[in-house]
Amino acid sequence: MHAQFEPHDSQAEKTRLLTLFERQRAAYAEQPFPGEALRRDRMARLRKMLQQHTDNFCAAIAADFGHRSVHETRAMELMPTLSSLRHAEKHLRRWMKPQRRGVSIWFRPASNTVVPQPLGVVGIIVPWNYPLLLAARPLVSAFAAGNRAIIKMSEFTPRFGEALRQAFSEYFDETEVAVVNGGVEVAQAFSALPWDHLLFTGSTAVGRQVMRAAADNLTPVTLELGGKSPTLVHADFPIETAAQRILYGKCLNSGQTCVAPDYVLLPKGKEAEFEAAARASVQRCYPNIASNPDYTNVVNHRHLDRLRGYLKDAEEKGARVVPLADCDPASGKLAPTLVFGATDEMKVLQDEIFGPILPVLAYDTLDEAIGYVNARPRPLALYYFDYDNNRISQVLSRTISGGVGINETILHFGQDDLPVGGVGASGMGNCDGREGFETFSKLKPVFAQSRLNGMKLFYPPYGKRIETLLKLMLR
Ligand code: NAD
Repeated sequence: MHAQFEPHDSQAEKTRLLTLFERQRAAYAEQPFPGEALRRDRMARLRKMLQQHTDNFCAAIAADFGHRSVHETRAMELMPTLSSLRHAEKHLRRWMKPQRRGVSIWFRPASNTVVPQPLGVVGIIVPWNYPLLLAARPLVSAFAAGNRAIIKMSEFTPRFGEALRQAFSEYFDETEVAVVNGGVEVAQAFSALPWDHLLFTGSTAVGRQVMRAAADNLTPVTLELGGKSPTLVHADFPIETAAQRILYGKCLNSGQTCVAPDYVLLPKGKEAEFEAAARASVQRCYPNIASNPDYTNVVNHRHLDRLRGYLKDAEEKGARVVPLADCDPASGKLAPTLVFGATDEMKVLQDEIFGPILPVLAYDTLDEAIGYVNARPRPLALYYFDYDNNRISQVLSRTISGGVGINETILHFGQDDLPVGGVGASGMGNCDGREGFETFSKLKPVFAQSRLNGMKLFYPPYGKRIETLLKLMLR
C-alpha cells in the first residue's frame, strides 16, 4: 500500500536552495582547501550519523515505498556506504598527496607535480530507488576531496528526504552539507546553479536535461544513468546456477535497481530449464509475495501501472508472460515475471524495465548474442555467465558497458576499489573510490622552474642556436 505525503512548498524550497548555495560559496571562499583532519572529521561524523539513524532511515524508506525490506536497506544501502567510507579513510592520505610526474629532457631540472584540489561547492541529485546509498556514497567522495555539498532528494522519497535533512542538521553545519527536497521545479532550479561540479544519478531522459542546464554555466557533470543491462548466459554454464544468480539480482528491491539484469540472452533450447529453475529460485527465496517482508513494493502506483502496462502490451503482441508466483494485485507488489518471445515492437524491449519483469530471448550463436547487445545503446552493466576464459575475454573486448559482472549480477556495483560509471547512453564520468575522489577534485598540474635552467637558449631573437636545438628536438 502506498500512503500520501504532504508535498513540499517548491517556492520556499527554491528560495532556501539559493540561500544555502550562497552560504556554501561564502564558506568555501573563506576556507578553500580543507586539510586532512577536517576531511576525516566530516567522514567520521557521517559514519556516526548513519549508525545513529539506521532504524529511522530504514523506516522512512519503507514508508516511502509502501514496503521496503529493512534487510535490503541495510545490506544494499548502508553497508556499501560504510564500506566506502572505511576505504576512503584508509586511502585518503595517499589520494591527497601531490603526485610527482616526469619532466622531459628539455625542461630539466624543473619539477612537475599534480596537486588534487577541492573543487568547491558540488551538487548531488539523487533518484528514489536507493536514496540513502546514492546520496551518501557520493558524499563520501565529495568530503574526501574536501568539498561542500548540497543534495537534492527525489520527490518520490519525501519521508526519507526529510529524515536525512534532519539527521544532517544534527551533525553538520549547513555550509558543509545540506539537503533540499521537492519535485521537478526544485530539481530544475538545482541543475541551473553554477556548481563547481554536478553529479546526477537518474534516468537517461532527465540526464539530458540536466546536462543541457549545466552547459549554460559550463558546469562539469557526472551522469550516472540507467538503461537496459543485458545478461548473457553461455550454453556450457549450468542453467540452474545462472537462473538463481540472475533472479537474485532481479528481485532485489523488486528490480528497481539501475544495474538489475534487464533481459536475458539464453541459448536456444534452454528456455524450459531456465523457467523451472527461475520458478524454484523465486519460491525458495519468497514462499509468498504479497505479505513477504523480504520482497519490496513497486515504489508507487504510477510505476506499478507502467510495469503492468508492459506485461499487457507484451501479451497482446504475442509474448508468453509467466508470473513466477501468485501476488495480490492490491498489495503494491508485482510478482517476478518472465516474458518469452518478446520482440522489438514491445515496450518491454524498448524501455528500461526497472521492475521485476525479465524478458528471456533465445540466441543461436555467441556472435549473434554479442551483435544484439552491440546494436543497442551502451548499457550500464553487462553480465556474462561462462567459465571459459577465452570466451570471457572475447565478450569483454567485443562489448562496451559501464561495468561488468562475470558469473554474478549486481555485486560489481558495491566494490570499494572499483569505479562506478556508465558509458554512452548509460552515463559519463566516475563515482566512488579513487575515481570518485578525482571526480570531485581539480587535478592541478604544477610546473616549477628551477633556479638554474636553460630556458634562455630558447628566447628570441631566433637564429642559429634555436635552429640547432630544434633539429635535435624534432628528431
Ligand atoms: P529521474 O531521472 O526521474 O529522477 C532523478 C532525480 O532527478 C530526482 O531527484 C528528480 O527530482 C530529478 N529531476 C527530475 N526532473 C529533473 C529535471 N528536469 N532537471 C533536473 N533534475 C530533475 O530518475 P528516477 O526515476 O528517480 O530513478 C530511476 C533512474 O535512475 C533509472 O533510469 C535508473 O537506472 C537510474 N539510476 C542510475 C544509477 C546509476 O548509478 N547509474 C543508480 C540508480 C538509478
